[in-house]
Amino acid sequence: MRNGRTQTLPTLLDGLDPRCATCWEAVDHAEALVSFGDLLFHFGCAPGCRSCGRVLGPGEAGWRFVGEVVSEPWGWSLRPTKFWCRQCLEGAPRDRPSGGE
Ligand SMILES: [Zn+2]
Ligand SMILES: [Zn+2]
Repeated sequence: MRNGRTQTLPTLLDGLDPRCATCWEAVDHAEALVSFGDLLFHFGCAPGCRSCGRVLGPGEAGWRFVGEVVSEPWGWSLRPTKFWCRQCLEGAPRDRPSGGE
């Protein structure tokens, strides 16, 4: 272990960097992005509907997800794991997330 060097430690600002919710890499706003609430995805990382497979696109509304809480150097964040599109939420109750609100 070497002393005397400035280590790059995670800071709160790092934690606030936008990150792709699928691959967890930082995203650049110059890239094509799909945003979903507070979540951002690379264009190629956009999640698909758990039920019908339709891929979340820019501006899609009404999608719902469930996620798991993961710990991060700066605290914790919610990492989505399953998505459902609006159509399936409205039309296919068998695939609704269970145990949610
Ligand atoms: Zn990504
Ligand atoms: Zn669907």
